Amino acid sequence: MTGRRLALLGATGSIGVQALDVLRRLRADGFPLSVTAMAAGTRVEALAEAAREFDVRAVGVSGPNHAEALASLLPPDIEVVHGADGLSALAGRADVDVVLNAVVGAAGLRGSLAALEAGKTLALANKESLVVGGELVARTGAGVAGIVAVDSEHAALQQCVQGTDRDHIERLWITASGGAFREHRLEDLERVTAEEALRHPTWSMGPRITIDSATLVNKAFEVIEARHLFDVSWDKIGVLVHPQSVIHGLVELVDGTVLAQMGPHDMRIPIRYALTSPERLPDPPARLALGERSLQLSPLPSERYPAFWTVVEAGKSGGTAPAVANAADEVLVDAFLGGRIRFTAIARGLEEVLGRHRVGAGDSLAKLEEADAWGREQARRFVEGKE
Ligand code: NAD
Ligand code: MG
Repeated sequence: MTGRRLALLGATGSIGVQALDVLRRLRADGFPLSVTAMAAGTRVEALAEAAREFDVRAVGVSGPNHAEALASLLPPDIEVVHGADGLSALAGRADVDVVLNAVVGAAGLRGSLAALEAGKTLALANKESLVVGGELVARTGAGVAGIVAVDSEHAALQQCVQGTDRDHIERLWITASGGAFREHRLEDLERVTAEEALRHPTWSMGPRITIDSATLVNKAFEVIEARHLFDVSWDKIGVLVHPQSVIHGLVELVDGTVLAQMGPHDMRIPIRYALTSPERLPDPPARLALGERSLQLSPLPSERYPAFWTVVEAGKSGGTAPAVANAADEVLVDAFLGGRIRFTAIARGLEEVLGRHRVGAGDSLAKLEEADAWGREQARRFVEGKE
């Protein structure tokens, strides 16, 4: 089949599984799109099943043992690769046009760089690629011009700024649901459990981003992501609390006009648009019940989300600081989910680790990987020292 050929990285996760759903519908509708390659971390059985369903040519997993297990589940003519090099190889394949990067965490960066280096269109869900390696990504291949955002806020902003002179943009607004604890009393946050934090009010997502939504680290990452994607100064990016998650992004123009993108909170919509744009297909997976909703927008409260400000500051410092913020956050979220630290310790840990970090240049993969390792080690020490 001609048409777009896809590599789906992170095929077994929340975004990955929703992408598979989108792909099934596109296939049923006869949209010219095939899947050449898929990768995941460790869930070999789910990956093998999806790989067979979409008749892919190559698959990748994180480690050699998983690769062996995966190979045993697949026909011998399917190539099996592993590790960061494997991810890069899949993203850069000659028979791939579009790379949908839905890996979670800093592990996604190599796939994004390989995709851009090879001139592919990068449909980017893995915001950590831009948080950790924004400076590098911007200089690779077509840079941010090669990226179609999947993150709903950035997909919204990209649609709103189409055809707009960049000098006419006064401010980009990203909306935030406020996460699981938007209405909790601040003194109760000390005692909330992982189970409560995983109950996001509007979106259903992977565990890490759900916790990051409760601390608003996710929103700080999205501010950094927007800064790289749209190349505007920090003071031109604002955040509004919007509990309904219906308005995803707004662009305020110099003449007072505000352009907004709205839609149901269903990630299959931005995933599908990233795969088919500029084409828009009928039959969306969900629809907004316009006329049956009231929508609120309010400023971000300054005390409720201390981690947000810490991580935005790291973004502003640039260089290795955002890579350290992400690495520390990965460890701290994991420790919270494992019951080893309290919810409020995530923000404290980030502040402590970043406070100790001496920011260096983040202009090579080696320096970023070193900063990532340092951030993880420091966060582990924090976790061990506290409870
Ligand atoms: P998830 O944890 O549900 O899934 C992560 C996927 O990455 C899995 O398939 C996992 O196997 C794979 N993976 C992990 N480590 C890997 C490695 N080393 N090599 C290859 N694959 C690896 O996460 P998610 O919620 O789907 O989020 C994925 C990305 O999309 C994140 O960057 C997140 O911030 C972003 N995002 C997610 C949502 C959402 O609704 N879930 C919305 C916006 C953005
Ligand atoms: Mg988002």
